[in-house]
Amino acid sequence: MRRKPHKLQFLETLATRKKLNPEQQALLQKLQRGVIGEENMDLLVESILGAEVDCLDDITLEYQGSVVQIDKLLIIGSIIYLIDMKFYRGHYIFKNGEWYLGEKILANNNFEQLRRAVRIIQNVLHDHQIPLKVQGVLAFMNPESSLTVEDNLKETVLNFTDISTWLLQLKQNTTNKQLQDWKSAIRNYEIAPYRTKEIFPLEKMDTLQKGICCPNCHQFNMNENRHTVSCPCGYTEAKEIAFTRTMCECGVIFHNQNLTRPQLKAFLGKDLNPRYLDYLLEKHFEHLGRPKARLGYHNKGILFDYWFAAKKDYFEQLARRTTWKNANISM
Ligand SMILES: [Zn+2]
Repeated sequence: MRRKPHKLQFLETLATRKKLNPEQQALLQKLQRGVIGEENMDLLVESILGAEVDCLDDITLEYQGSVVQIDKLLIIGSIIYLIDMKFYRGHYIFKNGEWYLGEKILANNNFEQLRRAVRIIQNVLHDHQIPLKVQGVLAFMNPESSLTVEDNLKETVLNFTDISTWLLQLKQNTTNKQLQDWKSAIRNYEIAPYRTKEIFPLEKMDTLQKGICCPNCHQFNMNENRHTVSCPCGYTEAKEIAFTRTMCECGVIFHNQNLTRPQLKAFLGKDLNPRYLDYLLEKHFEHLGRPKARLGYHNKGILFDYWFAAKKDYFEQLARRTTWKNANISM
């Protein structure tokens, strides 16, 4: 599963409960465009190369003290394509080793970042005696942007409109030979994804909208029933999911803190039954310190879907029961 960058999880969650400042708002939109770009790439790859194509998406690695985040690795024949996606706006030129936007020279050379990632993957493969070659690919995912390259580069550069053609060409090179387990070799170096450095201070809890936010219409008018919560917009959710999801949202906003009962009580707002909170903390969260939960609960600082990826089946079953019950009521 491709995860939203942590900064995006943080800003999106914060935005449901507070007005973002213009800088945060602009960054939120930029990160959202990034996610759409990645999804577009995944769709193109899958529709052209087929669902069985061998990829590794969105992985953060630490190799000999260097940390690198990789958007996509794709293997075709004996080449691993390391794809770095950019969502820039505007028309760029790469000449004499520099990036230009109009007359302006950019401070960062994106090819250096890509080369570093390529070197790391190449070394990992070498360490594991896997004879695959790594090829760097820089893909511009915004259809309205472009990069023109005037220098000779060993990297592949793709503007958005080139991607389909490039994938179709790759498809002809596909070989069926059994390859070594390149993914587990790389996964040996996997670390947790970057966390945003931006924090929201606990003292500012008062400035946040409290309660359960409807995932459908983003209002805070959820009505609590025995086993469900329902929104005037028509959205109904299992109560256990709604509350647990909201507790994760609190974790995302205050990602630098442990989760504590008082903090969660304040976040969930006046309608919360404290006994229900204790029940959920006991059931789904890991307490820290002794006596029990003295230091609060472990905060993964990520959204519900990622936090409880391992309990996906359990929560899906709960969600199904909710629809089944509603179906009966409306009969
Ligand atoms: Zn709603």
